Amino acid sequence: MKVAFPYLGYDTIALKKFVELLGAESCLGPPLTARTLSLGTKYSPELICLPFKITLGNFIEALEAGADTLLMAAGARKCRFGYYHYLQENILKKIDNRHCFYAISQYTPYEFFFKKMPQIFGVTPQKVIYATWLLLHYSALIDYFRKLIRLTRAYNFYDAQKKELEALRIIENVSSFKEVQKAKKELRKIFSPIINTSNEIIRIGLVGEIYLMLEPFANYEIEKELGKLGVLVVSKRSLYRHLKHLLKLDLFDLRTISNAYKYLKDSPGGEAIKTVGEAHIFAKKNIDGIIHIYPFTCMPENIAYEALQKLARDYEIPILSISIDEHTSKTGLLTRLEAFVEVVKRKKFKG
Ligand code: SF4
Repeated sequence: MKVAFPYLGYDTIALKKFVELLGAESCLGPPLTARTLSLGTKYSPELICLPFKITLGNFIEALEAGADTLLMAAGARKCRFGYYHYLQENILKKIDNRHCFYAISQYTPYEFFFKKMPQIFGVTPQKVIYATWLLLHYSALIDYFRKLIRLTRAYNFYDAQKKELEALRIIENVSSFKEVQKAKKELRKIFSPIINTSNEIIRIGLVGEIYLMLEPFANYEIEKELGKLGVLVVSKRSLYRHLKHLLKLDLFDLRTISNAYKYLKDSPGGEAIKTVGEAHIFAKKNIDGIIHIYPFTCMPENIAYEALQKLARDYEIPILSISIDEHTSKTGLLTRLEAFVEVVKRKKFKG
């Protein structure tokens, strides 16, 4: 069985290991490129949000590479995500009808552990539980790596980039819980000596829609670009936290929701409530600025946008909102980032 799921930035490594622990081969197709987006856009409804288009293109390329089983996250939500999988399944059937498409509901753990995954992979529920437990630890390791590399990029961008591949190789070679702990130590050894804390940096909180937050292709490598400008990116989003949220293990969730309340009383869907709650926490922690990224037609994040405008006035904190779609130009985006970083630096160092 050759299994494909959408790429998810660095966390793709953890998801691949999960699939392989369940006895299947992962076959994701080539890395995401302009071709992926153009294929996805060609077959998508025109006004659907960007994550739909990229993940659809991703699946088409995976099928071309020989995948026979496609897994797509699903779940009833107040936004379009609730029907992503119906649409993608129908579109993909017309392109290639030799594969199986499975929608994996995120909000039904019993079905996930005891029915769906055992049925797809032909394994016992115990094996699924064990693989999920390891997935949680792999994703925690990746979360840890992302924090380290963000910190290192802010202080010493070029050396951080040189060490990235070495660090990723360590993560890829991990295959047990014990090795996860060992890998954390090795990662610290790689990055700690090159953090030069004598440089002046600014801290910018990144908030927004989860796919754009996690997939560098979708966000035009915003974290890397900010690191190049001497910015320490602070972000609370990761696959690790998302899994903890789904397993009801994330205490930070409650804090986020209570912090959103002043500006957004009820969830309009997607991650809008998290966007606002995290931005409020950042503002209270005296973060120097906030960047909000979201797909152009994303209804929940457009509502969050309004809430963030009020938050920006209350805390006098600079907030840059960036909506992204297939027409976004990287040059234009970089110009906006550079201008914003300059404003934040002036406010902090000369204000
Ligand atoms: S949160 Fe926004 S981008 Fe994500 S599926 Fe919903 S509408 Fe689309």
